[in-house]
Amino acid sequence: MAIFNVHINDLPPEGKQFVGEIRPAVFHDLSPDSPTPCSPTKFDVLVSLDKDSVLVEGVVETEFELECSRCLEKFNWKLRLDPYFSEEPREGRSNLDLTEFLREDILLALPGYPHCEDSTDSKRVCPAAGKFADASEYAPISDEAPSTPQNDLWAALDGLKGRIDK
Ligand SMILES: [Zn+2]
Repeated sequence: MAIFNVHINDLPPEGKQFVGEIRPAVFHDLSPDSPTPCSPTKFDVLVSLDKDSVLVEGVVETEFELECSRCLEKFNWKLRLDPYFSEEPREGRSNLDLTEFLREDILLALPGYPHCEDSTDSKRVCPAAGKFADASEYAPISDEAPSTPQNDLWAALDGLKGRIDK
């Protein structure tokens, strides 16, 4: 198991490049219905110090198997953070656990309510699409202008006018 422990005190002024893979198991302490990682997380990042902050920047790539919250089918979801950038206060620490650092950010990037439409396989169509709207998605927002009582009144008057003009 590779632990990417960055010794902050030893960082050269220009920073240090870290390239590697995080094994999927670091995500396994999630709850059973959580997304399943299906590939190691690859990263290529530069760790540097900026005054009192630790900066991590570069590219992070991973792949998860997610479950559509609508049709419950599983699909693959690739995440590529390019550019990846993260900044944390140093707070006097001398080490940075890069694995934990990246893990947190990947968890934040995962969709809370995954849908087939999130799939990175662009041909994927949700079998349940249009059958029903689930709670997280249902919102009374439409492309049309909202129908206010006043609009209805004018529409009614227009209709009336039309009839009088004839
Ligand atoms: Zn679906």
